[in-house]
Amino acid sequence: MIKIKKRKFLLLPGDGIGPEVVGEVKKIIFWLNKNKSLDFEIDEDLAGGVSYDKHGTPITDEVFYKALESEAVILGAVGGPKWDNVEFSKKPERALLKLRKELKLFANLRPAICFEQLVEASTLKPEIVSGLDIMIVRELTGGIYFGEPRGIKPIDKGERKGINTHSYTSSEIQRVARVAFDLAKKRKNKVTSCEKSNVMEAGLLWREEVQDLHEKEFKDVKLDHMLADNCAMQLLRNPKQFDVIVTDNLFGDMLSDQASMLTGSLGLLPSASLGAKNKEGQMRAMYEPIHGSAPDIAGKGIANPIATILSFAMALRYSLDLDKEANSLEKAVQDVLNDGLRTKDIISKGKKEVSTSQMGDAIISKLQ
Ligand code: NAD
Repeated sequence: MIKIKKRKFLLLPGDGIGPEVVGEVKKIIFWLNKNKSLDFEIDEDLAGGVSYDKHGTPITDEVFYKALESEAVILGAVGGPKWDNVEFSKKPERALLKLRKELKLFANLRPAICFEQLVEASTLKPEIVSGLDIMIVRELTGGIYFGEPRGIKPIDKGERKGINTHSYTSSEIQRVARVAFDLAKKRKNKVTSCEKSNVMEAGLLWREEVQDLHEKEFKDVKLDHMLADNCAMQLLRNPKQFDVIVTDNLFGDMLSDQASMLTGSLGLLPSASLGAKNKEGQMRAMYEPIHGSAPDIAGKGIANPIATILSFAMALRYSLDLDKEANSLEKAVQDVLNDGLRTKDIISKGKKEVSTSQMGDAIISKLQ
């Protein structure tokens, strides 16, 4: 059993803009170590296309073991057109799936927060999204993306059949629901559980297990059940009715992308993927921005580092219990936006355009 080293971060910048945005997190870690007497240890290595280019695999065993012994992995992004024709099992994205699966990161947390300063960037009316603060908890290691049997097989008369299996066990459902209830207690105390219990047996089990856990352990949290298609509709109609949404892998994939776009700002949204806690109360976790490697702007110094910086704030909060430091980092981001500084992706009239590293420096100066 590989032991988790306390306060050790593994940085995997990855491809495209990954190294640029993770570089800003590195500056913040150095600053915290120097000025707040924190003792974070960092290691940095290759994952994704850059690892494929050097080692012929998107993640080496050595890097994978480093991830196992780190308290948190901070990932930039992987992938890009350069690796489009690489065989499926060696694609950069396989590094991500391997880390999620082998570190048993079963709960994916994706906040959808509408920054007051950027309300106009949303495609929805300001009154619908202003003040929006939703947390989507997506089950990440089960359901239809992993279920067996799966595959494409020939059937009669030249026809083929594609098969994927959607299945969940009680414990898989209850452990992710527990994460959602615990989070809700620190927020507005409300969980909405989404499934398709009207047409899927696995959806019915989902609903029953969430209800059962609620009755046994979380009666003080408000719980609603909602069909996933209705949730998709409600997210556009009245998103502020939600606090924490918990749902399975497939519906979570869709609903979290939809929710993130309510805020109109891909470069601002963080995510966390959490595993189970060990006997010492430590858990493995990976933090990453929700955006990809943005090959169209890579190397230009214009990428927005805020999503990655806010992912690091989530690492401080969820992996290290450093709520105070997480809050001040989030506040520093707000302060910089209030000052009118913007990277190119979120620039608007009357605001000052800054580069990736100027944005990182401005956030650090607010931490002072
Ligand atoms: P993308 O998120 O990389 O880019 C979409 C658009 O948003 C682009 O115009 C890009 O310039 C812009 N953008 C994204 N992040 C930005 C930032 N921080 N600052 C400013 N602008 C930003 O999505 P895509 O173009 O569909 O995918 C590109 C590659 O990334 C693909 O190979 C894809 O597989 C990969 N990808 C990786 C991850 C991941 O590593 N978790 C997630 C999504 C996509």
